[in-house]
Amino acid sequence: MNAHDEHAVYESPAREAAGTNLLGLSRTALERYFEARGERPFRAVQVLKWIHQQRIARFAAMTNLSKDLRARLEAEASVTPPEIVAVHESVDGTIKWLVRVAPDNCVEMVFIPDTPRGTLCISSQVGCALNCTFCATARQGFNRNLGSAEIIGQLWLARSMLESSSERSRTITNIVLMGMGEPLLNFDNVVEALELMLDDNAHGFARRRVTLSTAGVVPKIDALRQRCPVSLAVSLHAPNDRLRDELVPLNKHYPIRDLLAACRRYVAGDPREKVTFEYVMLSGVNDSRQHALELAALLADVPSKVNLIPFNPFPSSGYRRSPEHVIDAFRDVLLSRGIMTITRKTRGEDIDAACGQLAGVVQPRSQRMRARRAGRLAPAGAERLQS
Ligand code: SAH
Repeated sequence: MNAHDEHAVYESPAREAAGTNLLGLSRTALERYFEARGERPFRAVQVLKWIHQQRIARFAAMTNLSKDLRARLEAEASVTPPEIVAVHESVDGTIKWLVRVAPDNCVEMVFIPDTPRGTLCISSQVGCALNCTFCATARQGFNRNLGSAEIIGQLWLARSMLESSSERSRTITNIVLMGMGEPLLNFDNVVEALELMLDDNAHGFARRRVTLSTAGVVPKIDALRQRCPVSLAVSLHAPNDRLRDELVPLNKHYPIRDLLAACRRYVAGDPREKVTFEYVMLSGVNDSRQHALELAALLADVPSKVNLIPFNPFPSSGYRRSPEHVIDAFRDVLLSRGIMTITRKTRGEDIDAACGQLAGVVQPRSQRMRARRAGRLAPAGAERLQS
C-alpha cells in the first residue's frame, strides 16, 4: 500500500466532485476563486446566492452569469453535496439522516422539531477521537475530518428536504454542531462552514442561533472567539478534574480551571452572552447532591446556563440514566444557587438519534490499516470499485 492508496480511500467524497467543489467555499474563498480566473469578485455573491439561497447546483441555471462563465464553471467546477443514504423518522417527529461521505463511511444528521423552533444537529468528523466513556460515537473510532462542503452540505441537504414542505414546524431556526465529532479539532473546515451559515448572502443565520459544542479544546475556544464567535456549548459532565479525567479524557490536556478561564474569555465584553454547559446525568457517577454543589461553586463566576442531559443508553455502555427525581434534585440545587438550568428533553430515542447515540458508519483508520496490513482487506482501489 502506498500513500496514494491511503488518499484514495480516506479523502475522496462519496460522489467525486468534478473540479473544484464550490459548495464549501466561503464568500472570501469564492472571491479569490473568481479573481484567480480573471472574473470580478462580485460574482462570488451571485454564486453564493444561487447555491445557498436558491439551492441550485447546476451552473447552467445561474442566469445572471454570462453564458461564457456558466460554460466555464460547468467544465471546471461543481456544487456537490454529500449523499443521503437513509432516513429515519421518530414518533416524536425527529428525523435522522445517514449521510454518506465516502464509499464506506457515513455520518449522521438530525432534525429536532420543537415548534416554534426547529434545530438541525450536524456532524463535523467521521467518528471521533476523544473517547468520552459514555458516548456511542467514541466506540466507532475516528476516520477523518469532514471537509467544509461536507459540513455545510448537511445544512444544504436538510433545507432542501425540509423547507420544500410548507409545514412551519419544518423550518430550521437553529443549528447545533453537536453531531459526530469534535468540531474544534477540525477548526478550519468548521469555521468556513460556520461563515456560510452566518453570511447574509448564504444562509443568514444569526450568530446566537448557531451553537458549537466542544469537549473543551482550550486554545481553539480562543481562536473561535477571534474568527467566528457563535454560541458556545461545553460538554462539562463533571465538577472536578478527578472525575472529568475519567469521563472526558481530553480533560488531562485541558483541565477544568483552564477550560473555565477560556469560557470566561469567550463571553467577556457582552453581558448578555452565556456559555451553555452540558452535563450528562449518569446514575451513581456524577449525579449526587455533592456533585451539584461542587458544580454550582465552579460556575458561580462564569456567565452560564446548564443543560442536564439524561444519559441515553447504547449497548454495553456500562452506564445507567439517573432517575428523574435525582435529575430534578440536581437541577434544584443549581437553581437555588442562581444558575439557569434546564433538563434537556430526550428526543428521537426510538431511532437512536438522541445525544450520544449517533454512530454513523465509521471505518476507524487504525483498525483498517491493521486489517489491510494483515491482508484481510482488498487494496484500496478495488474496494472503491466494489462499492
Ligand atoms: N465533541 C463535541 C460535540 C458532540 S456533542 C462535544 O463533546 O461537545 C454531543 C453531546 O452529547 C455532548 O455534550 C456529549 O457529551 C453528549 N453525549 C454523548 N454521549 C451521550 C449519551 N450517551 N447520552 C447523553 N448525552 C451524551
